[in-house]
Amino acid sequence: MKHINQFISKKVLVLGLAKSGVAAAELLHKLGAFVTVNDAKPFEESPDAQNLLSKGITVICGRHPEDLLDEGFEYLIKNPGIPYHNPIVRDAISRGIPVWTEIELAYLISDAPFIGITGSNGKTTTTTLVFNMLDSGGQRPLIAGNIGTVACKVAEEAQEDQVIVTELSSFQLMGIDIFRPKISILINLYEAHLDYHGTIKEYGDAKFAVTKNQMDEDIFIYNADQPSVVKYAEMTKAKLLPFSTKGRKEVGISADLTYIYWLGEIYLERKSIELPGEHNLENILAAVATAILMKCPKETIQLVLTSFTGVKHRTQFVREWKNRKYYNDSKATNTLATKSALAAFDQPTILLAGGLERGHSFEEMRQYMNHVKAVVAFGETSNRLIEFAASCGVKYLEQVDDIHQAVKVATDLSEPLDIILLSPACASWDQYANFELRGEDFIEAVLQIK
Ligand code: ADP
Repeated sequence: MKHINQFISKKVLVLGLAKSGVAAAELLHKLGAFVTVNDAKPFEESPDAQNLLSKGITVICGRHPEDLLDEGFEYLIKNPGIPYHNPIVRDAISRGIPVWTEIELAYLISDAPFIGITGSNGKTTTTTLVFNMLDSGGQRPLIAGNIGTVACKVAEEAQEDQVIVTELSSFQLMGIDIFRPKISILINLYEAHLDYHGTIKEYGDAKFAVTKNQMDEDIFIYNADQPSVVKYAEMTKAKLLPFSTKGRKEVGISADLTYIYWLGEIYLERKSIELPGEHNLENILAAVATAILMKCPKETIQLVLTSFTGVKHRTQFVREWKNRKYYNDSKATNTLATKSALAAFDQPTILLAGGLERGHSFEEMRQYMNHVKAVVAFGETSNRLIEFAASCGVKYLEQVDDIHQAVKVATDLSEPLDIILLSPACASWDQYANFELRGEDFIEAVLQIK
């Protein structure tokens, strides 16, 4: 870890605790800053705040005082989930105080370079694939982000000859000033999170931050099939490595139905790739390109592609039972994700779906419902899902109370060669604390089938 002087005796406010806030506060404390943390949760209910206080960090809990910034802070490190229209954040910006997220701190102190991965969909899958390839190739990579540890914690331990593979959400990217990965990836750009970002331009600009500080010795890997992404590629100083899932062999890495091509030459055959779905092809091409650039041997890349069955809860293969295959896509908390999961299969499919009622339409799934023979619905949206499935001509419609029952009903309805897919198209919060627990419940139910 680089022992930087930048924060010595500086007053820094950490806004919002959670994992990233705690790690940032501890790190800044170590770097000699006078740290104050502010979090909405009452002190008595927050073991994190109590722990930080015991280390000598000032904590203000249970409220966000309006005059907080009058104390003369020189930096504000905010939790990525806190929007820029938050009054304290707005106040900081108007006072000219730099507003960062912890990824910026991670970059400042890290001895190891970064690979930064972003996009509307596929971040975790691509990050995991890249990590697995470099790891199997003996490069001792580190992983940070959603599935790993908080980036600034990882960066503390990282050594010069390692690389930190990190997933970056647009929320994290908006707080970037100097973060500069040696390889950056923009997988795709869809309209998402507009409640947070306001406009698609603001959202796209946040994603562009992954490459905006890159220089010509760095590399930007991007989706050449999406004009909105290509537009950003024209603005970066990094070397370009475009990918295309539409068989455009002239770009850096591409795929048609049979092969993956590297610089226009056949690189490997697709039939050995385990991960299902066209959408995953974007993630695979971006990951393979990264691994090649990182000098990972081809046999290692191939080995990972033939054994990787998906990240947990993301079209994850769970089990084959009497010639039926069960997949857990609990992470699909919206219709866009369920649409990709449905498009990944052409076999008869039993879809298990439903969850929190947000009043959202299921219409965009319609053209992917042709091979769905049954819908087993649960949760607050179950009535509407059944109505929607009926209007798509789905043969069997079942409403159940919970996932265990859904698995049972689906299994009873199933025949050999069917796909049984949990891809709820809804958030889990009506019945579960998070999508991971929903997925765990599904896995448990599937493993119990006898
Ligand atoms: P993220 O980390 O960006 O949320 P994940 O890799 O966790 O993405 O995948 C979340 C869901 O999005 C998956 O369950 C899958 O259905 C869908 N998905 C994954 N990759 C893509 C892609 N490249 N394009 C469209 N949808 C995708």
